[in-house]
Amino acid sequence: MARVIGFHYTLTDKSGTTLDSSIGDEPLYFLEGAQQIIPGLEKVIALLNVGDKRKVEVKAQDAYGDINPELVVKVKKTQFPPDADLQVGDQFQVNNDAHSPVFTIMSVDTEEVTVDGNHPMAGKDLFFDVEIVGMREATEEEVTHGHAHGAHGQGHH
Ligand SMILES: [Zn+2]
Repeated sequence: MARVIGFHYTLTDKSGTTLDSSIGDEPLYFLEGAQQIIPGLEKVIALLNVGDKRKVEVKAQDAYGDINPELVVKVKKTQFPPDADLQVGDQFQVNNDAHSPVFTIMSVDTEEVTVDGNHPMAGKDLFFDVEIVGMREATEEEVTHGHAHGAHGQGHH
């Protein structure tokens, strides 16, 4: 039977800079085995109990993968809408599919724009501080949907 597990986390990189945190916000609930969180983190959390706190180091390969140089591409400026305001650091999706990669603008030249389709956390080893705050059986609906519906299985989405 699949479980839904809730946890608080603080994510830092190698230098100790906080990249993301759930502290002061709702904990994150995920459906076990549904690839809702990165595999290297789920593997450890699946073995913990409510109340457990753990530091978890996840290598890039078990997190968002290594940087793929082929996803850094130069695009002719003419391929963007003529009125597009192209700024370094801007992010965009090529289409509206939620799973299509997000591209980040790396540089803007006179004729070309360099974009990077790697996940912003690709190539990074990640350091999580986690605390397990909830654990229950998944509802049938959650299993059907392939994701958790919050703390009580009645979350909206
Ligand atoms: Zn759902």
